[in-house]
Amino acid sequence: MCDGCDTDTRKSGLRELEGLCIECWRERALLAENGQMFYFTFGNSGKQVFEGGWVRIKALTFGEAVEKFKARYGERAMRDNFVNCASMYTEEEFKQTGMAEKGNLGGFEQDYIEIGG
Ligand SMILES: [Zn+2]
Repeated sequence: MCDGCDTDTRKSGLRELEGLCIECWRERALLAENGQMFYFTFGNSGKQVFEGGWVRIKALTFGEAVEKFKARYGERAMRDNFVNCASMYTEEEFKQTGMAEKGNLGGFEQDYIEIGG
């Protein structure tokens, strides 16, 4: 049984590696190598890094995304020890908000931080 997608690997005949079917294992290996997208959204308080919209960050983990955000925006990135944004989403979660199509408080992607950037 695959831990990622619950496919019965014995029934489907898929190879299993480290508790994952070959499909999920490949996906995880790709993520580990290339990272994934995180989205930090902004409100309209006038006190955050941007007004509305979001910053897209390519990173391996949430923690790394926060580090990149801090490196890019310096003092403005944090406020009272919290990341100075409205919400943080993984790509999957962000898709579900519908913001990619509708925008967030009139804003769209404000900035993109690449790996190593
Ligand atoms: Zn799987």
